[in-house]
Amino acid sequence: MADTAFWRTKPLSEMNDVEWESLCDGCGKCCLVLLRDEDCDDVWETNVACRLFDAKKRQCSDYANRLSRVRGCVQLTPDNAGALDWMPDTCAYRRLARGQDLPDWHPLVTGDKTSTSAAGMAVATPLLNEDDVDPDDLEDHITKRRN
Ligand code: SF4
Ligand code: SF4
Repeated sequence: MADTAFWRTKPLSEMNDVEWESLCDGCGKCCLVLLRDEDCDDVWETNVACRLFDAKKRQCSDYANRLSRVRGCVQLTPDNAGALDWMPDTCAYRRLARGQDLPDWHPLVTGDKTSTSAAGMAVATPLLNEDDVDPDDLEDHITKRRN
């Protein structure tokens, strides 16, 4: 483990592309449609996902072009990973940016790609596609508070 636990020895800014991408636990939580309460700033999750989210694979269906195809899709970077308050507390990028370790269920720790869902940390399905939901009805699809 000591040789492979690069996330404990390298800052985010020094990771190569393979290391960076491998940090994603595949939870899918950053692809849910979120609602922010303007009065108290609380962020709420819905059971509605981005139009490009493949709920079965729990991944973006057009990752390479996501930023040009979906307005509001945010590219995570070493600079913003710790500051995006709407990202889940469990997100590996957010945790490392805040000086925390990966959780014990993370696939890099377990060596098992299914460990995120096995630990109950992935988005619950079924999910609706945002193209199938009237934006005015999104409040009816709130599931829980984020973080
Ligand atoms: S919230 Fe973080 S760990 Fe989860 S899918 Fe998004 S980028 Fe990956
Ligand atoms: S464009 Fe892809 S990565 Fe971005 S929020 Fe939508 S599904 Fe997620």
